[in-house]
Amino acid sequence: MPVTTRAGRVYATGTLAERIAAHIAVQENGCWNWTGCLNSNGYGQIRVSGRSVLAHRASFETAVRKLSRDEQVLHRCDNPLCCNPDHLFTGDPAANSDDKVSKRRQAKGFRLPHTKLTPEQVIEIRESNETQSVIAQRYGIAQSNVSRIRSGLRRTDLDEPEYMREAA
Ligand SMILES: [Zn+2]
Repeated sequence: MPVTTRAGRVYATGTLAERIAAHIAVQENGCWNWTGCLNSNGYGQIRVSGRSVLAHRASFETAVRKLSRDEQVLHRCDNPLCCNPDHLFTGDPAANSDDKVSKRRQAKGFRLPHTKLTPEQVIEIRESNETQSVIAQRYGIAQSNVSRIRSGLRRTDLDEPEYMREAA
């Protein structure tokens, strides 16, 4: 319940953790989506001691530890709404941009010899009954790659991006 002070300002009651929990919608993928106010960048906001702070930052501070001013709280899940402390980690702005670059690279996931293949083609190859040489010719790849794709050795990133494994 909000409380109105004599100065006419409205403050929410309850602990910060309770107030955060009241604005969380837990998703099937484990993300805790913020259902309260958002800032112009799409991040959740919550008022703490009369100041607007980032909701995921407040959640991290509540669940993990106090942050210094220049520390950033970053999302492993790339979901700006997410306030799940397990999906958050700290870093500086340079690490943030490195992190985004490496995630983009990983999200593509095709930097090894079968760079040419789309995820759909990899699935076609896995499900096909044709011989390795027919497949290799059709997609312009080595037979050994067809064999590896079929055994799943080369395309673990199809099932689970590397950064999600790190997060586990
Ligand atoms: Zn998340």
